[in-house]
Amino acid sequence: MAVHNVTLIRGDGTGPELVEATRRVLEAAVATNGSSFQWDVVEAGVDIMETAGTPLPDNVLESVRKNKVALKGPITTPIGTGFRSVNVALRKELDLFACIRPCKSYVGVRSKYDNIDLVIVRENTEDLYAGVEYDVNSPEAKAIIAMSPGKIRDDAAISIKPISITGTRRIVKTAFDYAVENGRKKVTAVCKANIMKYTDGLFYRVAREVAEEYRKHGIEYDEWLVDAMCMQLVQKPENYDILVMPNLYGDILSDLGAGLVGGLGVAPGANIGDDMALFEATHGSAPKYKNQNKVNPTALILSGLLMLKYLKEDKAAAALDKAVSEVIAEGKDVTYDMKPDRNDPTAVGTSQMADAIIAKIQAG
Ligand code: NAD
Repeated sequence: MAVHNVTLIRGDGTGPELVEATRRVLEAAVATNGSSFQWDVVEAGVDIMETAGTPLPDNVLESVRKNKVALKGPITTPIGTGFRSVNVALRKELDLFACIRPCKSYVGVRSKYDNIDLVIVRENTEDLYAGVEYDVNSPEAKAIIAMSPGKIRDDAAISIKPISITGTRRIVKTAFDYAVENGRKKVTAVCKANIMKYTDGLFYRVAREVAEEYRKHGIEYDEWLVDAMCMQLVQKPENYDILVMPNLYGDILSDLGAGLVGGLGVAPGANIGDDMALFEATHGSAPKYKNQNKVNPTALILSGLLMLKYLKEDKAAAALDKAVSEVIAEGKDVTYDMKPDRNDPTAVGTSQMADAIIAKIQAG
């Protein structure tokens, strides 16, 4: 029995309606344990940009730093403007270096595969997401071009891909710790070290060192190149358990993993740092469905389930998992994307699917 102080970032697009549905479900789940939430509701994203002058006001970061736990709706990244992604900025500012994305099959979700149980562990702060980019004809781009004779055209823009020993060590350790804590059997490092010999080569080298340190726990370790891994996941996903990788490959394989288990509507995520965590779905703000009470709340609700585990609300997490599984398996009170035909008139809205999950939690 506890009161949990949690920052609630509503997001934009379909974010606020998904966050509201998830908030109600999580409150019902922790109530089974006599616990409750004290939410600190804050705004970030395109809707607040005009009034605050920034899509990421300082009070958002301050609230997460104070509460140490946040639940976040998706936030739009406008393409081609000066604003960097708020999602990336939050992870970097709060040093939420590990993105953990379980891809687990639920009975009743339409997918070409069943019995998938993969976890993608993505490094969140380095790689091509470090934000070190130089525009075409900039002095920095010209300097780098001059340092690399014959390798880069004069009219190139340049992105820098930093991969550090420190960053790699802590993400691979996170993957192995997750394996130990959750009784998993294998960690696979995914890279393109045959081409990027220094950066991705370093990732493999450090991953091997960490694997050696965890040998006593009996966890298997192997390595795959990212292109081959894509084919493996499509052909033999059952052979893999925990996949750990740098930022960009992790971004891409997270969507592949979501596709294996039925799509973005059911893919949750957690961004974890040393003493802080922020939980959000893999999907984006799906702005074309804004204010329609239409999109699937499951991914954010399952992100909330990861948050319950992080808060050690294991009983509430188990009650929520059971309720979500039952609602999906019955297939009645689910959103359009979970129906066999996307135009099925019996599909319910975001809020009604949350109501059905709450009813299952309360029925026990
Ligand atoms: P998206 O995930 O928002 O939507 C792509 C499509 O997936 C939607 O049109 C919809 O058909 C489907 N979809 C997504 N979420 C769904 C849900 N909950 N239920 C049912 N169907 C769902 O991807 P996008 O259109 O590429 O991105 C929209 C915006 O979101 C962009 O600005 C992008 O940068 C941003 N984004 C934010 C995050 C985040 O907040 N962490 C993550 C990814 C993308």
